[in-house]
Formats: sequence, C-alpha cells, structure tokens
Amino acid sequence: MKDADGKSSAQPTDAREPDTRYEVLLKTFLASRKADPYSPTAPTLIDRRFDEDREIPETRVKAMLEQILTSPLVAQTAQLIQSRLGRPLEPFDVWYNGFRPGSQYTEAQLDDIVARKYPTPEAYQKDIPNLLMKLGFAPDRAQYVASNIVVDPARGSGHAMGAEMREAKAHLRTRVEKTGMNYKGFNIAVHEMGHNVEQTFSLNDIDYTLLQGVPNTAFTEALAFVFQGHDLELLGLPAPDAKAQADKTLNDFWGTYEIAGVGLVDMGVWHWMYDHPQATPKELNDATVQIAKNIWNRYYAPVFHKKDVVLLAVYSHMIDAFLYLPDYSIGHMIAFQIEEQMKKAGAIGPEFERMAKMGRVTPDLWMENATGRPVGPEALLEATQKALTAISQK
Ligand SMILES: [Zn+2]
Repeated sequence: MKDADGKSSAQPTDAREPDTRYEVLLKTFLASRKADPYSPTAPTLIDRRFDEDREIPETRVKAMLEQILTSPLVAQTAQLIQSRLGRPLEPFDVWYNGFRPGSQYTEAQLDDIVARKYPTPEAYQKDIPNLLMKLGFAPDRAQYVASNIVVDPARGSGHAMGAEMREAKAHLRTRVEKTGMNYKGFNIAVHEMGHNVEQTFSLNDIDYTLLQGVPNTAFTEALAFVFQGHDLELLGLPAPDAKAQADKTLNDFWGTYEIAGVGLVDMGVWHWMYDHPQATPKELNDATVQIAKNIWNRYYAPVFHKKDVVLLAVYSHMIDAFLYLPDYSIGHMIAFQIEEQMKKAGAIGPEFERMAKMGRVTPDLWMENATGRPVGPEALLEATQKALTAISQK
C-alpha cells in the first residue's frame, strides 16, 4: 500500500505489536475492582460473574469445562477429522469446520420457495399459528401465542423483542426484501419466533411476574435453536437426515471442545490479574500467553501433538467482555440438554410450554424441572457418543 505522499504503509510485518490490548484489559480489571468494596457477598468480579450473574459457582463451571476437555470422545472425534482431512492435525484444526452439514437444496431454491410463501411480513404473521401447530402446539395454544406476536420488517438482521407487560405484544423482526422473504430471513424468523414464544409464556403464563423470563440468555437461545433446527420441515421439506444430524452434533462438540479451553484461559487471566494488581501491560501479556500455553499443553497437545501453541488467547471477547467466554460452552451444554429432552418427549409444543413457564429461577432448578438433571455436559457427551457410533457404522 502507498500513501498519497508515496511512502509505503501497512506492510505486513511480524514485529511485535504494542501492548494496547493488554492495557485495555488491565483497565477493565482496575475499573471492576473499584466495585469490590461495595459488594461484600461477592467481593471480586469473578465472584460476581459466577455467583450473581450466572448463578453457577466457578468450581462447577470449571469442572464442566474440564469434563468436555478430558472426554475420551475428543480423541475419537480428532481421529475422524484426521481421516477426513487425510493428514495429521495442525493446531488451527481446532477450528475445523468440515462437520457443518450441507443441504440437498441450493440457497437459490430455498430462496424461491420462501419468497413465494412469504412475499410480505403480513404473510408470515398470518402463518404463525400454522407454523406453531406443525411444531406440535395445540390449535388453541398456537392461536393464543400467535395473537401475542407482531411481525415487523427488520432494517438490520433479526431480533426478538419481548413484551415487558402482559398487555403488550412481543415483536418479531426479520428482513423481508422487495422480492419477498428469502431463506436467510426465514431461518432467522423461525429462530426469533422461538424467542417470542418463550417470551410470551414466560411473561403471561407464570404465577409471579417478578420471575418473568429464563435464567439467562443461554436458555432462551437454546429454545430458539430448537425452533430454528426445524426450519426445513416448516417449509414442508424433509428434515435433515441421520448423517446430517450426526455431523451437526460433532460440529457442536468440536466447537465446545475448542471454546472450553478459551473459557479456562479467560478465567485464568482474571485470577492472575487479581493476584497481581500492580502488573504492567507487558507482564499481563506474558502471563496471558503462558496461561494459554499451559492450557493448550494440558488439554490439546495430547491430541494435536504440538506444544506451546498460543491460539487459545486470541479471542477479543476476553479484552472487553468481563469473563463472558465460559458462557459459550455452557450455552452448548444447555442447548443439548433441552434438545435431547424435546426428542424424548416427542412433540416440541407442550414440552416447550412446560419449560418456558418455569420463569427466571436459578439455572439448575430450571434445568431440573425441564430435564430432571442440573446443568451439565452429559447430554452433549451422550449425543456425541451416539453421533460417532452412527458415523462409524456408515
Ligand atoms: Zn437468539
């Protein structure tokens, strides 16, 4: 690249970057620490994130992440990836995306089907009771929920905005092009509709309005994914076959294995900052890289046969999201717990309603009511085992 004055700039280089990233992270730490004296029952940001926001203690979250990382299913999945790639694994294969199932329809074919069905937002609005009945809701419940949802055309991507009082309605937002809705818009609409149905039940049909909602965003996302996973059937097309479903499970498991280590790095770095409050950005940089290497060496090196890889420290969420990264793994676990329970129950509708009416209690209490077990990785691990068996029998 040449600037206007002819000097070259932005040449690729492997020179060390300044420690700006770690300077920002240190500032978020120092700012968080200012709240500590006013929070006697949860005196660190770490305590507040786990005990107050997530309502799952840190020791349990750590144990759940380690249960994924040390599962024998990791080596089996790695073996499968290696045989599909036809070469030994490289560290970047921690982001292997070859399990993402393809579709038997092209995007253009799907666009065409959707545009004919939903030329306007009103057309989708009118079809909501019908869509909900296809998902197993009884006709009166489908009508009732549909009457509480308003469809708006989105300017950006999709969005589900729940009501805050029982007289108000939930809003479903998705893009509708001039030529009608396309498949992407439909897929998002079905996801957002899942949120809206949850929002309606968890506001209008619970005993105490103070308990409105779900324990945290992972729960509403899991419920929305259940809807979204059935989008093809809602268009009257065949559901994904067993092979596609097994691939999807392995994709989620491999992604959880990757992000579980990232979550442990995030947690390790926050503990290090609390232990070294006077650290400089350079010292924090060195510590973060060392923590990432340690976690890699412990949980990934045995699979990838390479040591001291720093990839796990790459996420920018770590810099400004205040210990958010462990939520991704917990979100996958919760999604599988809910998904497996729906499969056991058969129809989605009544089971969805039963779960959503529990309200915003603690995550474990909600999950025990929903599935009989507290929050944990077992459902994901069981589904992964089944998927590996199904694929190896092909
Ligand atoms: Zn969502």
